[in-house]
Amino acid sequence: MEPTNPDLDPTDALSSVPAAGAGRGVSPTGKLRFFFGPMDCGKSTLALQIDHNQARQGRSGLLLVRHDRSGTPTISSRMGLARNALEVHEDMDLCAVVRRRWAAGTRVDYVIVDEAQFLSPAQVDQLAELADDAQVEVYCFGLATDFRSTLFPGSRRLFELADELNAIQVEVLCWCGRAGRFNARVHDGEVVRAGDTVLVADTAVVAEEVRYQVLCRTHYRTGDLGPHAVSGRQLSLT
Ligand SMILES: [Zn+2]
Repeated sequence: MEPTNPDLDPTDALSSVPAAGAGRGVSPTGKLRFFFGPMDCGKSTLALQIDHNQARQGRSGLLLVRHDRSGTPTISSRMGLARNALEVHEDMDLCAVVRRRWAAGTRVDYVIVDEAQFLSPAQVDQLAELADDAQVEVYCFGLATDFRSTLFPGSRRLFELADELNAIQVEVLCWCGRAGRFNARVHDGEVVRAGDTVLVADTAVVAEEVRYQVLCRTHYRTGDLGPHAVSGRQLSLT
């Protein structure tokens, strides 16, 4: 009996691994992915895990971070892992960064961006271009919305352009136990809903007065920070 012709296998249509696309005139592209979630949901941990998995396959990566808080650009997780990264500046052309690596003989198979909400929309376009034209796999990690509960411009552009959008499923809880989805800016015990979007706690003065707290929508709206919200100095009973 003749073996079944694999070209006629009716299960091919269900295969999760597509055929090579021969003859269809479709060139392979990389994918632009955005993993988003509130603060403390494990974005940087996942970024480092993906980097580890890719590097283990012998692939060469470029790690980028925007507005790094440490002074020495790193992607670091609260689990204690850290990798050096390149700090992205406001006017940096990310295509040019990758081209310079190539010119220096360094492969760039994938790009990982932490704090991607701070990218400019133009930089997100550059990442899409790298995915499309250079088959670079791009993994962006960041917050969707700012303390005003509106999309960061970079995150908005990622929602518009990304091939894959992934809400990170590690749930961060509001003090009341509901899912926390909003990154509230807290100044002297009050939720602040207006002001400069990019206010990273990177100076001692700002760090002392401003903090961020993840809240559910109800408590973001009402500004209720919960029973343990009052700071020590305000609790002075003398
Ligand atoms: Zn709540």
